[in-house]
Amino acid sequence: MVCFGRQIFGTGTRNVYAAFQKTKCLHSGFLGHGDMKTNPLRQLPAVNEVLESPDVQALLVEFAHDVVVAAVREELDELRKQIRQGQSLPQPMGVEDIADRVRRRLVHELSPKLRSVINATGIVLHTNLGRAPIAEPAAQAAYEAARGYLNLELDLETGKRSSRQNAIREWVARLTGAESATVVNNNAAATVLVLRSLCAGREVIISRGQLIEIGGSFRIPEIMAVSGATLREVGTTNITRIADYERAITDRTAALMQVHTSNYRISGFTKSASLAELVELGKRRGLLVIDDIGSGALIDFSRFGFEHEPVARDSIAAGADLVLFSGDKLLGGPQAGIIAGKKQLIQTIEKDPLMRAFRTDKMTLAALEATLRLYLSEAQALSQIPGLCMLGMDLNVLRKRAERLAAQLRQIKGLSCQVNHDIAYVGGGSLPDQAMKTVVIEIEARQVSDGELAHRLRIGTPSVVGRLRDGKLVLDLRTVFERQLTELVEAIRSAVSLAEPPQP
Ligand SMILES: *Cc1c(COP(=O)(O)O)cnc(C)c1O
Repeated sequence: MVCFGRQIFGTGTRNVYAAFQKTKCLHSGFLGHGDMKTNPLRQLPAVNEVLESPDVQALLVEFAHDVVVAAVREELDELRKQIRQGQSLPQPMGVEDIADRVRRRLVHELSPKLRSVINATGIVLHTNLGRAPIAEPAAQAAYEAARGYLNLELDLETGKRSSRQNAIREWVARLTGAESATVVNNNAAATVLVLRSLCAGREVIISRGQLIEIGGSFRIPEIMAVSGATLREVGTTNITRIADYERAITDRTAALMQVHTSNYRISGFTKSASLAELVELGKRRGLLVIDDIGSGALIDFSRFGFEHEPVARDSIAAGADLVLFSGDKLLGGPQAGIIAGKKQLIQTIEKDPLMRAFRTDKMTLAALEATLRLYLSEAQALSQIPGLCMLGMDLNVLRKRAERLAAQLRQIKGLSCQVNHDIAYVGGGSLPDQAMKTVVIEIEARQVSDGELAHRLRIGTPSVVGRLRDGKLVLDLRTVFERQLTELVEAIRSAVSLAEPPQP
């Protein structure tokens, strides 16, 4: 590779560059060929030479100058490192080749970090994949809110300033039977806010069996500490009676709290006080009763064969002063924490300075309102909220879908697949012990290991995430949207047929 190889002069028509490169070449020639041979690092052009090349100049239309310069430096550093480590460079490595590598580096580095994923895990509420997908009308409402103006804090009737909470207050009240409601960013924030605004400096009694960790460092004792309320744990892990709560009451007690053990179950010899008992005790002793129900079911999930999932309306009916739940678990809306209950308590909560820090933005509110409105008709909620559709998907429908897709996948050379029964879980800290029967496609590529296949699918476009089980990649179509099926086949086809892992 004398004088950086033929490629430089091969461009011919690019006169200016050719002239420029020629000078450079003469210059290196002056140093002598011997020098080039003894120092292979000299095979590489200087940063400026790469920068001046037409291919890199073209990149400057799309990318900022300093970003391109940095990428050229990094690419050359990388190549130098390879040479120093005694690796031979893929030949030829002229300015144009380097320019091409720089372009690929930039496209890779500057592509969006958040990308669409086809969720083939079958886990409906997959925390790592963004939990609940929202309904079309909700996504549409968020889109409209995002790209324009709306009456977020303006009463259109009077022209006066209003609260952003008004948009959802009435819907939550209607759907849960509560007097009022307010919304913050998530249920963790809702818990902190409620405890801080109503119980700071005083004690809150909770059963030892309910001191849960939800994940991502949401631990009831820590949340309590942050809020400034004092945790008073009663009972034992498996047994807590109403008498245990009563005995723990002092003049410092502010509330009795029940926390739904969303992501685990205690079975066997167990007992816990019912919400009705807590309400009776709270009334008698003048204490608040706070019910953190977690997943925010607005309908009875026993229709899907799931048990023990508390419904917000039932908690209010049982007399809880406040009920807290997430917007993006079983409710199927955007990430949010909903606090429903007594009007006067909601007013106190909304006066807390943290309310401002925890408040939701206009897109979330718009999406949440649209989601809640779907629940005005249960049939509508069941047919339009993706999570509910997925949970309610008939096993025969699922099997037909899997067989249809498997037939397409069998056309792919080097791939074998099989439709099978399996078990799935809801995920997202909901219904932990309640397995769902499901139908999956197991795929195996002759040339590619299961781990490698899973990796290729993950880094592909669109990204596909499945489950790995017993050396096979398992795809559960329950969580794959109908509109994604063609893309899914194509993604698998390119992952299997690539000889090399794809360059993203
Ligand atoms: C999930 C959950 C939370 C946390 O809700 P986020 O919306 O994830 O902040 C709190 N409490 C219970 C009981 C939960 O299930």
